Amino acid sequence: MKGVVIKNTGNTYWVRTENGEEIVCQAKGNFRLKGIRSTSPIVVGDHVIIDQNPDGTAFITEIEDRKNYIVRRASNLSKQAHILAANIDEALLCVTVRFPETSTVFIDRFLATAEAYRIPVCLVFNKIDLYDEDDKEYLDGLIYLYQTIGYPCLKTSAETGEGIEALRERIKNKITLLAGHSGVGKSSLINVLQKDASRKIGKISDYHLKGTHTTTFSEMINIDTGGYIIDTPGIKGFGTIDMIPQEISHYFPEIFRFSKNCRYNNCLHINEPDCAVVKAVENHYISESRYRSYLNILEDVNESKYR
Ligand code: GDP
Ligand code: ZN
Repeated sequence: MKGVVIKNTGNTYWVRTENGEEIVCQAKGNFRLKGIRSTSPIVVGDHVIIDQNPDGTAFITEIEDRKNYIVRRASNLSKQAHILAANIDEALLCVTVRFPETSTVFIDRFLATAEAYRIPVCLVFNKIDLYDEDDKEYLDGLIYLYQTIGYPCLKTSAETGEGIEALRERIKNKITLLAGHSGVGKSSLINVLQKDASRKIGKISDYHLKGTHTTTFSEMINIDTGGYIIDTPGIKGFGTIDMIPQEISHYFPEIFRFSKNCRYNNCLHINEPDCAVVKAVENHYISESRYRSYLNILEDVNESKYR
């Protein structure tokens, strides 16, 4: 039987099969993944083959190749990686311009990392019911900026329901990763999209985990109108540490475009002669905030080399 892993805690996996059944499975054998040491070999989003025994127990016997996955390193020094989720079709970055304010550096770091992982991102600006005229103007400026670069943007309110239908369409039949600072409204959006989201998940885990102590790594929430949402605690930790300095501009699509005209092909776009990127910032073809974020990541990557 084929299915998709919707939740894992330690060595126990919840698999949703093609006919919509949810089956609790153990992993069979030793799943080794090429090139990466992971604390868990099978993760949410994995497509798997399972074997069910007559006594009801079930085992995962195969994992299909992943189209992508996201990791969080245990620490900057450690090579041990914790894979959070696999086969993500799109990441929704939930941001608010106020209550709390999400910085453009945070947005851009997320976008650059997603580019590195080859995960498309849609920006979801939430809490639009709370914004005054100044906030709205700032918000529209951000939307213009990011749409021009090529990132789709949505405006939502989990409170009034505005924009929720467009969001529902966006996630339809996809595996969507929901990310963003705490407090921006991720749980609220999930609850609006799927009324019984928390209740459903609660029921399964209560039944099977009674009396045991386990850590939930990640889980996917099934949306009845189509699609899954991965709600990953701690997703903001996914780092840029593995990038090399010359590579960072590849993850800023508009900076990358201009960088082809720099005099040196290893240009870092700081103060080199005839840098087409610096010129484009001066001429407002590249936004200053994006360029600042680029420098911010560059600084981080340079520092980490000496750690
Ligand atoms: P999370 O930490 O990202 O999951 O954020 P929550 O969903 O827990 O929301 C944090 C707070 O913001 C809660 O008090 C929500 O009621 C509130 N909130 C979330 N979305 C909206 C919204 O669109 N409008 C308003 N006015 N409040 C919201
Ligand atoms: Zn340059």
